[in-house]
Amino acid sequence: MTFKTKGLVIREQKVSDGDCVITLLTEDRGVIRVWTKGIFSPKSRNSGARLFCYSEFALYKSRERYSLNSADLLEGFFALRRDISVVALCSYMSQVAYSLLDENAETAEILPLVLNCFHLAAGGKKPLRLIKACFEMRLASILGFTPLLDACEKCGSADFAPEGVSWLDVQSGVLRCDACREAASVPLSPAVLQAVRHIVSAEAGRLFSFSLGEENLLLLEQVTEKYLLTQCGRGFPALDFYKGLE
Ligand SMILES: [Zn+2]
Repeated sequence: MTFKTKGLVIREQKVSDGDCVITLLTEDRGVIRVWTKGIFSPKSRNSGARLFCYSEFALYKSRERYSLNSADLLEGFFALRRDISVVALCSYMSQVAYSLLDENAETAEILPLVLNCFHLAAGGKKPLRLIKACFEMRLASILGFTPLLDACEKCGSADFAPEGVSWLDVQSGVLRCDACREAASVPLSPAVLQAVRHIVSAEAGRLFSFSLGEENLLLLEQVTEKYLLTQCGRGFPALDFYKGLE
């Protein structure tokens, strides 16, 4: 059976001379692995099947195995390859996607999220910390781990005076005030709480439309990273590599 789908190449694994298995984050088929031949050849007409390319794929499925017929490039994100930090961030987002999602995953919201992150990271106009934070918290939310952020889960207070600091319990995904906080909590400044609320509730088109000072951005990134990793119960080598570059 031959069919077409749009997708982003999030992994390349060479299996033998000229053969390569690519992993696609698709618009309508979840995350799938596709057997390809000769995509590394300079003469290949399927350059759209290379890592970090967003393409329209014609695929063939036989005995549960997908093979590549053709890949028409839609967006190559070539600018992102200029900066090792951007490559590392995109590798991390890719690794999260192929580690957490399978062929049956609902990717209709996730593919645009990852494409937007790639686009912004390649464009160099938004801080990588902000892009990473949006990816982590929004993905957690799409996967069903939206934190409850209205008020302290224990006493109901939404007034975090005098300092304004609240605490996110990264295990149970609830907010607590200073008096009610428990061990697995990370602190949120008022600006970071507002940013996290924005990330989980904004329309997709407005997701990245906010800014924070450097200190709050650092705090936001720590919160979203810890939250995603705790909620999915694992770490990612590509994240360790990205952080090693800082
Ligand atoms: Zn409380």
